[in-house]
Amino acid sequence: MEIVRIPVLSDNYVWLVHEPESGETMVVDPAVVDPVLAEAERRGWRIGQIWNTHWHPDHTGGNATIKAATGALVTGPAAEAARIPTLDRIVCEGDRVRLGAVDAAVLEVPAHTAGHIAYHFASEQVLFIGDTLFAMGCGRLFEGTAAQMHANMTRLSALPPETRVYCAHEYTLSNGRFAVTAEPGNADIAARLKAVAAARDAGEATVPTTIALERATNPFMRASSAEALAALRAAKDNFRG
Ligand SMILES: [Zn+2]
Repeated sequence: MEIVRIPVLSDNYVWLVHEPESGETMVVDPAVVDPVLAEAERRGWRIGQIWNTHWHPDHTGGNATIKAATGALVTGPAAEAARIPTLDRIVCEGDRVRLGAVDAAVLEVPAHTAGHIAYHFASEQVLFIGDTLFAMGCGRLFEGTAAQMHANMTRLSALPPETRVYCAHEYTLSNGRFAVTAEPGNADIAARLKAVAAARDAGEATVPTTIALERATNPFMRASSAEALAALRAAKDNFRG
C-alpha cells in the first residue's frame, strides 16, 4: 500500500492511499479538493473512495466536489451520518472496509467527536486515526469525555507496537513542548522533542508516528486513569508553548 501525505490548510494532513495490486485509490479525510485531485492526477491514480473519520469540515470539506469529479464512494461513521450529508456508506465498530486487495477494520473511538472512527489495516500495520491520537498528544474533547478518550488510548496502545499511525494534523511540536512539562523526567520525550524541533526547522513532517513511539512519549496514552487524562487535557487546552 502506498500512502502519500498531502499537507493542506494550516496544519492538516490528507492521506492519499493506493493499493497497487488492484490499482484502487482512496483518500482519507479530504479537507479540500484541488491539492488532492492534483496529487492523484500527477500519479495517474483514480480516486474511487473517500473515507471519513469524523464530521469536522477540515476532514470532509472536499467530499462533495471530489465525489462529483471522480464518482468516489464516500464512507464514514454511522453515528455522524446526519452531519456528513455526502456519505454513501455508513460504518460501525467491527465493520470492514475494503480497498482492493486489503481491508481495514472500523474502530469506534469517540471523544473528539461523538461518532469518531478509525480505520485499521491490520495486515499492513497501518492506522488512520483522524483527530483522536496525535504524535505526543490527543484530540480535544469536543463531544465526549476523558473516560472515553482514556479507553481509546488504552485500546490503541494495545495495537502492535510497529503499527504506523497516520494522524490528521501536524501538532507534534506543540504537543512535545507540553509533553516535557507533563513528564519532565522522561528522557524519551525530551529526545523526541529535540528531534521534532529539528525536523520542523527543516520543514519536515513528523507524522506518521508509531504505537511504540506513542507508548514511550505520549502523556495522554501513558495516563494511568481517566482522571489523569482529564487533568492533562485541561492543562494542554490552556498551554501556550
Ligand atoms: Zn476534528
